[in-house]
Amino acid sequence: LIKPHSRPGLYIVNISAEMAPVAKVGGLGDVVSGLSRSLQRKGHLVEIILPKYDCMDYTRIKSLKELDLELHSFFDGQIHKNKVWSGIVEGLPVYFIEPLHPAKFFWRGRFYSEPDDFKRFTYFCRAALEFLLQSGKRPDVIHSHDWHTAVVAPLYWDIYVPLGLDSARLAFTCHNFEYQGAEPAVALASCGLSVRELLRPDRMQDNSFPNKINLLKGGIVFSNVVTTVSPTYAQEVLRPEGGKGLQGTLAQHSRKFYGVLNGIDDEAWNPATDSLLNHQYSADDLSGKEANKQMLRERLGLVTQGDDARRPLVGCITRLVPQKGVHLIRHSIYRTLERGGQFILLGSSPIPHIQHEFEGIARQFENHPQIRLVLKYDEALSHSIYAASDIFVIPSIFEPCGLTQMIAMRYGSIPVVRETGGLADSVFDVDNESIPIEKRNGFSFQSLDEGGLNWALDRAMSYYAQNPDWWEKLVRKAMKIDFSWDVSADQYVDFYNQIVTNVHATRT
Ligand code: ADP
Repeated sequence: LIKPHSRPGLYIVNISAEMAPVAKVGGLGDVVSGLSRSLQRKGHLVEIILPKYDCMDYTRIKSLKELDLELHSFFDGQIHKNKVWSGIVEGLPVYFIEPLHPAKFFWRGRFYSEPDDFKRFTYFCRAALEFLLQSGKRPDVIHSHDWHTAVVAPLYWDIYVPLGLDSARLAFTCHNFEYQGAEPAVALASCGLSVRELLRPDRMQDNSFPNKINLLKGGIVFSNVVTTVSPTYAQEVLRPEGGKGLQGTLAQHSRKFYGVLNGIDDEAWNPATDSLLNHQYSADDLSGKEANKQMLRERLGLVTQGDDARRPLVGCITRLVPQKGVHLIRHSIYRTLERGGQFILLGSSPIPHIQHEFEGIARQFENHPQIRLVLKYDEALSHSIYAASDIFVIPSIFEPCGLTQMIAMRYGSIPVVRETGGLADSVFDVDNESIPIEKRNGFSFQSLDEGGLNWALDRAMSYYAQNPDWWEKLVRKAMKIDFSWDVSADQYVDFYNQIVTNVHATRT
């Protein structure tokens, strides 16, 4: 076990359901590793506690070993055994909890969307805190994320502080207010919390369904600082469309609630060193980008000869869920074709009718010379698409932060986005004269209908076709924007210091 005492910086433990690249479904996974790596570089000790999923990418874990420790944790009125493993992921120390519970909570072949997700993650949170207690760790900050680990906050104050795990203050980041972990109240009792105490409007009672307990609300109410992943989204969630029922709770806790724009891990996402690319390249030498485009088109069977070589390649990499503007994604495929471009979609959907619909579109274009749909999760292919594409579409209905627009820009693919959440904080239209020219870096639109998307996508494709020199300058400029975690991580350190200083102040 790593001994934190000799470190000069803060000691931060993240308890999370995801961490890239070993257990990643979406942006949450990227944020946990990107933020942690940046904090580590700044001299802080950061550890991560994850479930030990069967479906993790074990090839990306170094020195994985079982700890010589018997971890017993409480659930459903009984004590259960757990194994704990340690390993290094992207240079970060990670602990993996493996429940020896008969329900095999993390032995399901997938990360989420199991009928007992509420049980799986409340079990995990209880075991994670038990691990901190039993191993004698004394973190300054426990940082939990999204509904899966929001219950850490009430568990900490109600059960673990009385048991002596009391060194920490709590940070909570909500990456998406759509997913809240609300269940009939009795479900909360399994992890040992008192339903009678917590099913109250000012605590964890769901704001719309009074018989339900809402885990996300618990994370907000019981943490010392609460953040979400962009300043614009932090405003949007104070309104009913954004807050999805939690807007009132956020308003009550607004003094500890902040929006911090995510960064991207600029070492993991770097076209100059990316080993998943056939040709590395940089803003100063874009020839590799062209070579990647050529290779990917050949690999996926798109035409590359003659006049076709100059067609702009439009990319889209996404979970296919309503939040992402599925109808506009579908429309952008047809619009790109109509306007003489090529389109590659990489995505998959946990929602059967959407997956089914896109399987139909994929079949329709199976041997098409300009369009390809790849309906799966594929990390390596995602890198190739960022590198190969010229334009990248993200027509989200709402987008807490969004990472794909930043990754796309880093790889020289110009984003076409709807102005919402973090997209509005990071993409500025090239034709918007109210924005300083040096900030303008992409194309954006507001309306939810197809007209808005057409307007932005058509302009992008026209600039690409008619003004190649201007376009190349835009590509170089986008690639040079600093989307690293450095600045945002400093904001987190400020929040951590504020809550930790308050502890010291109350103790002396
Ligand atoms: P969200 O967290 O809502 O899914 P973000 O834009 O914050 O959206 O993060 C998405 C991340 O997941 C990006 O790193 C993106 O490259 C990756 N991603 C999404 N879909 C796929 C896929 N099918 N294959 C590979 N990577 C994907």
